[in-house]
Amino acid sequence: MRFDVVTIFPAMFGPAFRQGVIGRAIERGVIELQAHDLRDHTHDKHRQVDDMPFGGGPGMVLKPEPVIEAVESIRANNPGPVILMEPWGERLDQRLAAELAGEPGLVIICGRYEGIDDRVRSALQECEVSIGDYALSGGEIPAMVLIDAVARLIPGVVGDPDSLAQDSFSEEPGEAATGWPQFTRPAEYRGMTVPDVLLSGDHARIKQWRRQQAAQRPVPHGRELKKT
Ligand code: SAH
Repeated sequence: MRFDVVTIFPAMFGPAFRQGVIGRAIERGVIELQAHDLRDHTHDKHRQVDDMPFGGGPGMVLKPEPVIEAVESIRANNPGPVILMEPWGERLDQRLAAELAGEPGLVIICGRYEGIDDRVRSALQECEVSIGDYALSGGEIPAMVLIDAVARLIPGVVGDPDSLAQDSFSEEPGEAATGWPQFTRPAEYRGMTVPDVLLSGDHARIKQWRRQQAAQRPVPHGRELKKT
């Protein structure tokens, strides 16, 4: 699967995805990630990507031409849907991540300033995705969240598929919607002990305990979780 990101800060993506499971998947060629500098798609000597909003008001707006031309240049190598990171977009959740993981690629556009000229939306027929009801200063971190959530669902990215099945919000027939409390060695630390059941070696009891614990975790209002 291919991820192409359009951004004014392509350098942010290198360090974020050089580590961990996603970093290794990129190294092994299971997924490909390329951050494209929006400024490479300008035609003036100042490489200007933003301008003042028509109608007045504070701040700047990303110009339509560089964004549209950047996406057109990416299109040849990436047939996937175009996604605009926007705070008012469809809320990212595990279901949406799983749906997007079935695509051959994603083309992700990161906004900045007061947002992106609205003609980009009509020209590219993309979908808008939000990572939550709060405003961030740019679409880069939201794009990273989206890429991470989608990429870990692609076969071969996470080494042990059972690890995905037990993720919180997983739709796999795993154990629980929220995951359960995890412990590792030492079995006692500053008087804090690990629940006996986990040391019992009784897998049926452990399974039951984990189910109960997961069911007790608080589920934030309004969130839909799979039934166990
Ligand atoms: N004034 C705009 C916000 C602009 S924030 C509005 O209220 O809609 C600048 C950019 O940051 C946005 O274009 C978007 O790409 C990104 N962004 C900010 N918050 C986000 C969120 N919660 N989810 C996804 N993208 C977000």
